[in-house]
Amino acid sequence: RLDGMSEPSIFTRILQGEIPGTIVAETERVFVLQDISPQAPVHLLVIPKTQEYRDVVELAAGDPSLLAEMVQTAKAVAEDHAGGQFRLIFNTGADAGQTVFHVHAHVLAGELQEKSLV
Ligand code: 5GP
Repeated sequence: RLDGMSEPSIFTRILQGEIPGTIVAETERVFVLQDISPQAPVHLLVIPKTQEYRDVVELAAGDPSLLAEMVQTAKAVAEDHAGGQFRLIFNTGADAGQTVFHVHAHVLAGELQEKSLV
């Protein structure tokens, strides 16, 4: 479903099959997309199906259990795609590099070379 009055985000459009994308896992409330521009050997995006929260601060205030589900899903996909250890990044605000204002967690894993990524 679409939330509020906003236009569908790029992630919503991928989830709905309007735009191609590689979805590697899905639960009732979240899905996991391969990043189109990987910055690590494993670079996945854990994304709530709802686009009503623009960033992790809004999500934490509005639906903390959904945030917890994102973290658990990150762990599960890091186990499936790497050794189970991972970095979890939420860019929050344009000045911090956020470009898609539909909250998402970057999961970076697999022999990371850099300390600062994404
Ligand atoms: P942000 O900069 O908002 O934290 O992260 C947005 C991420 O979405 C970027 O890493 C970017 O590569 C990824 N992305 C943007 N557009 C697309 C797309 O059309 N398909 C996929 N799979 N990833 C995308």
